[in-house]
Amino acid sequence: MKLILLGAPGAGKGTVAKLLTKMDGSVQISTGDILRAAVAAGTELGKKAEAAMKAGDLVSDDLIMGIMRERLKEDDCKSGYLLDGFPRTIPQAEALTELLADMGEQLDAVVNIDVPRDVILDRLTTRRTCQDCGEIYNVKSNPPKEDGKCDKCGGAVVQRDDETEEAINNRLDVYNKMTAPLADFYEKEGSLLTVEATSSEKVIDAIKAKLGL
Ligand code: ADP
Ligand code: ZN
Repeated sequence: MKLILLGAPGAGKGTVAKLLTKMDGSVQISTGDILRAAVAAGTELGKKAEAAMKAGDLVSDDLIMGIMRERLKEDDCKSGYLLDGFPRTIPQAEALTELLADMGEQLDAVVNIDVPRDVILDRLTTRRTCQDCGEIYNVKSNPPKEDGKCDKCGGAVVQRDDETEEAINNRLDVYNKMTAPLADFYEKEGSLLTVEATSSEKVIDAIKAKLGL
Protein backbone atom coordinates (compact mmCIF):
# COMPACT_ATOMS: atom_id res chain seq x y z
CA MET A 1 0.00 0.00 0.00
CA LYS A 2 1.02 3.62 -0.50
CA LEU A 3 0.05 5.91 2.33
CA ILE A 4 0.88 9.20 3.95
CA LEU A 5 0.65 9.06 7.73
CA LEU A 6 -0.22 12.44 9.16
CA GLY A 7 -0.36 13.21 12.84
CA ALA A 8 1.35 15.19 15.59
CA PRO A 9 4.63 14.03 17.08
CA GLY A 10 3.69 11.17 19.40
CA ALA A 11 0.45 10.34 17.58
CA GLY A 12 1.85 6.90 16.76
CA LYS A 13 2.75 7.26 13.07
CA GLY A 14 5.90 5.19 13.49
CA THR A 15 4.17 2.41 15.42
CA VAL A 16 1.36 2.20 12.88
CA ALA A 17 3.85 2.23 10.00
CA LYS A 18 5.81 -0.65 11.53
CA LEU A 19 2.65 -2.73 11.93
CA LEU A 20 1.62 -2.02 8.33
CA THR A 21 5.01 -3.02 6.89
CA LYS A 22 4.46 -6.47 8.38
CA MET A 23 1.14 -6.79 6.54
CA ASP A 24 2.26 -6.37 2.95
CA GLY A 25 5.98 -5.66 2.82
CA SER A 26 5.64 -1.96 2.10
CA VAL A 27 8.52 0.10 3.49
CA GLN A 28 8.35 2.73 6.22
CA ILE A 29 9.99 5.95 5.11
CA SER A 30 10.58 8.25 8.05
CA THR A 31 12.27 11.55 7.22
CA GLY A 32 13.00 11.91 10.95
CA ASP A 33 14.90 8.58 10.96
CA ILE A 34 16.77 9.48 7.78
CA LEU A 35 17.78 12.84 9.27
CA ARG A 36 18.80 11.35 12.63
CA ALA A 37 20.98 8.79 10.84
CA ALA A 38 22.60 11.62 8.84
CA VAL A 39 23.27 13.59 12.03
CA ALA A 40 24.76 10.51 13.73
CA ALA A 41 26.98 9.83 10.70
CA GLY A 42 28.07 13.48 10.53
CA THR A 43 27.25 13.83 6.82
CA GLU A 44 26.73 17.17 5.03
CA LEU A 45 22.98 16.62 5.26
CA GLY A 46 23.28 15.91 8.99
CA LYS A 47 25.25 19.09 9.58
CA LYS A 48 22.64 21.14 7.77
CA ALA A 49 19.73 19.58 9.68
CA GLU A 50 21.11 19.28 13.20
CA ALA A 51 20.37 22.67 14.75
CA ALA A 52 16.77 22.85 13.53
CA MET A 53 16.10 19.32 14.72
CA LYS A 54 17.50 19.88 18.18
CA ALA A 55 15.23 22.91 18.65
CA GLY A 56 12.20 21.04 17.34
CA ASP A 57 11.99 23.29 14.28
CA LEU A 58 11.50 22.04 10.74
CA VAL A 59 14.35 21.34 8.37
CA SER A 60 14.10 23.27 5.06
CA ASP A 61 11.69 22.07 2.39
CA ASP A 62 14.53 21.94 -0.17
CA LEU A 63 16.59 19.59 1.95
CA ILE A 64 13.60 17.33 2.61
CA MET A 65 12.53 17.23 -1.04
CA GLY A 66 16.11 16.38 -2.04
CA ILE A 67 16.00 13.39 0.31
CA MET A 68 12.56 12.21 -0.81
CA ARG A 69 13.19 12.54 -4.53
CA GLU A 70 16.03 10.05 -4.18
CA ARG A 71 14.36 7.83 -1.62
CA LEU A 72 11.19 7.22 -3.62
CA LYS A 73 13.27 6.05 -6.58
CA GLU A 74 14.76 3.15 -4.63
CA ASP A 75 13.77 -0.40 -5.51
CA ASP A 76 12.15 -1.29 -2.21
CA CYS A 77 9.44 1.32 -2.87
CA LYS A 78 7.97 -0.94 -5.54
CA SER A 79 6.24 -2.98 -2.86
CA GLY A 80 4.60 0.14 -1.42
CA TYR A 81 5.57 2.82 1.11
CA LEU A 82 4.32 4.47 4.26
CA LEU A 83 5.39 8.07 4.49
CA ASP A 84 5.95 8.82 8.16
CA GLY A 85 6.66 12.45 9.01
CA PHE A 86 6.54 13.65 5.41
CA PRO A 87 5.09 15.87 3.99
CA ARG A 88 5.05 18.34 6.83
CA THR A 89 4.36 21.65 5.10
CA ILE A 90 2.07 22.76 2.27
CA PRO A 91 5.04 23.35 -0.08
CA GLN A 92 6.25 19.78 0.64
CA ALA A 93 2.76 18.42 -0.05
CA GLU A 94 2.57 20.33 -3.35
CA ALA A 95 6.03 19.16 -4.37
CA LEU A 96 5.07 15.57 -3.49
CA THR A 97 1.92 15.75 -5.62
CA GLU A 98 4.08 16.83 -8.55
CA LEU A 99 6.74 14.21 -7.86
CA LEU A 100 4.19 11.39 -7.68
CA ALA A 101 2.54 12.56 -10.89
CA ASP A 102 5.96 12.58 -12.63
CA MET A 103 6.60 9.07 -11.39
CA GLY A 104 3.13 7.90 -12.42
CA GLU A 105 2.35 6.92 -8.85
CA GLN A 106 -0.86 7.18 -6.91
CA LEU A 107 -1.41 7.06 -3.15
CA ASP A 108 -4.07 4.80 -1.64
CA ALA A 109 -4.92 7.21 1.17
CA VAL A 110 -3.71 9.92 3.52
CA VAL A 111 -4.31 8.85 7.10
CA ASN A 112 -4.64 11.52 9.75
CA ILE A 113 -4.08 10.07 13.22
CA ASP A 114 -5.79 12.41 15.63
CA VAL A 115 -4.78 12.06 19.30
CA PRO A 116 -5.60 14.49 22.15
CA ARG A 117 -2.76 16.82 23.18
CA ASP A 118 -2.57 15.57 26.78
CA VAL A 119 -2.05 11.99 25.59
CA ILE A 120 0.63 13.20 23.18
CA LEU A 121 2.49 15.16 25.86
CA ASP A 122 2.48 12.20 28.20
CA ARG A 123 3.75 9.87 25.47
CA LEU A 124 6.54 12.15 24.32
CA THR A 125 7.94 12.82 27.76
CA THR A 126 8.03 9.08 28.54
CA ARG A 127 9.29 7.97 25.10
CA ARG A 128 12.78 6.54 24.74
CA THR A 129 14.57 5.57 21.52
CA CYS A 130 17.41 3.18 20.68
CA GLN A 131 20.37 5.23 19.48
CA ASP A 132 21.45 2.47 17.11
CA CYS A 133 18.36 0.92 15.51
CA GLY A 134 15.62 3.46 16.28
CA GLU A 135 13.41 1.02 18.20
CA ILE A 136 10.90 2.97 20.32
CA TYR A 137 10.30 2.29 24.02
CA ASN A 138 8.25 3.92 26.75
CA VAL A 139 9.42 4.12 30.35
CA LYS A 140 5.88 3.51 31.63
CA SER A 141 4.18 1.20 29.16
CA ASN A 142 6.97 -0.53 27.24
CA PRO A 143 10.40 -0.34 28.90
CA PRO A 144 13.35 -2.36 27.53
CA LYS A 145 13.91 -5.63 29.44
CA GLU A 146 17.24 -4.36 30.71
CA ASP A 147 17.30 -0.73 31.81
CA GLY A 148 18.68 1.56 29.07
CA LYS A 149 19.56 -1.30 26.71
CA CYS A 150 17.75 -2.12 23.46
CA ASP A 151 16.08 -5.56 23.40
CA LYS A 152 16.69 -5.83 19.67
CA CYS A 153 20.26 -4.71 19.15
CA GLY A 154 21.77 -3.96 22.57
CA GLY A 155 22.21 -0.26 21.72
CA ALA A 156 21.71 2.53 24.25
CA VAL A 157 18.07 3.48 24.83
CA VAL A 158 17.95 7.22 25.46
CA GLN A 159 15.72 10.29 25.47
CA ARG A 160 16.03 12.12 22.15
CA ASP A 161 17.65 15.58 22.13
CA ASP A 162 14.37 17.05 20.93
CA GLU A 163 12.39 15.39 23.72
CA THR A 164 13.04 17.97 26.38
CA GLU A 165 9.88 19.72 27.54
CA GLU A 166 10.81 22.92 25.74
CA ALA A 167 11.52 21.21 22.42
CA ILE A 168 8.38 19.08 22.71
CA ASN A 169 6.20 22.14 23.19
CA ASN A 170 7.87 23.78 20.24
CA ARG A 171 7.38 20.67 18.05
CA LEU A 172 3.67 20.64 18.88
CA ASP A 173 3.35 24.35 18.09
CA VAL A 174 5.22 23.86 14.82
CA TYR A 175 2.94 20.93 14.03
CA ASN A 176 -0.23 22.93 14.62
CA LYS A 177 1.00 25.84 12.55
CA MET A 178 2.80 24.15 9.65
CA THR A 179 1.51 20.58 9.37
CA ALA A 180 -2.07 20.51 10.66
CA PRO A 181 -3.23 22.48 7.55
CA LEU A 182 -2.30 19.43 5.45
CA ALA A 183 -5.46 17.71 6.68
CA ASP A 184 -7.52 20.31 4.78
CA PHE A 185 -5.22 20.09 1.79
CA TYR A 186 -5.81 16.33 1.47
CA GLU A 187 -9.46 16.55 2.44
CA LYS A 188 -9.95 18.71 -0.65
CA GLU A 189 -8.19 16.08 -2.75
CA GLY A 190 -10.67 13.57 -1.36
CA SER A 191 -8.05 11.18 -0.06
CA LEU A 192 -8.18 11.87 3.68
CA LEU A 193 -9.04 9.30 6.32
CA THR A 194 -9.15 10.77 9.83
CA VAL A 195 -8.93 8.30 12.70
CA GLU A 196 -9.45 9.45 16.24
CA ALA A 197 -7.77 6.68 18.13
CA THR A 198 -5.20 6.23 20.82
CA SER A 199 -4.69 2.57 19.97
CA SER A 200 -2.59 1.57 16.98
CA GLU A 201 -4.73 -1.52 16.42
CA LYS A 202 -7.79 0.69 15.91
CA VAL A 203 -5.89 2.84 13.44
CA ILE A 204 -4.84 -0.29 11.53
CA ASP A 205 -8.44 -1.55 11.48
CA ALA A 206 -9.67 1.78 10.06
CA ILE A 207 -6.99 1.68 7.35
CA LYS A 208 -7.88 -1.90 6.42
CA ALA A 209 -11.55 -0.98 6.19
CA LYS A 210 -10.76 2.04 4.00
CA LEU A 211 -8.58 0.02 1.64
CA GLY A 212 -10.92 -2.96 1.61
CA LEU A 213 -8.30 -5.32 3.08
P1 ADP B 1 8.24 13.44 15.41
O1 ADP B 1 8.34 12.52 16.55
O2 ADP B 1 8.24 14.89 15.79
O3 ADP B 1 7.18 13.06 14.42
P2 ADP B 1 10.33 12.98 13.45
O4 ADP B 1 11.20 11.86 13.84
O5 ADP B 1 9.34 12.78 12.38
O6 ADP B 1 9.64 13.43 14.79
O7 ADP B 1 11.19 14.25 13.08
C1 ADP B 1 12.19 14.76 13.93
C2 ADP B 1 12.67 16.11 13.41
O8 ADP B 1 13.22 15.97 12.11
C3 ADP B 1 11.59 17.17 13.28
O9 ADP B 1 11.34 17.84 14.49
C4 ADP B 1 12.21 18.08 12.21
O10 ADP B 1 13.21 18.90 12.76
C5 ADP B 1 12.87 17.10 11.28
N1 ADP B 1 11.97 16.64 10.19
C6 ADP B 1 11.53 15.36 9.98
N2 ADP B 1 10.74 15.29 8.90
C7 ADP B 1 10.66 16.55 8.40
C8 ADP B 1 9.99 17.14 7.28
N3 ADP B 1 9.20 16.41 6.45
N4 ADP B 1 10.13 18.48 7.08
C9 ADP B 1 10.91 19.22 7.89
N5 ADP B 1 11.56 18.74 8.96
C10 ADP B 1 11.46 17.41 9.22
ZN1 ZN C 1 18.31 -1.04 19.03
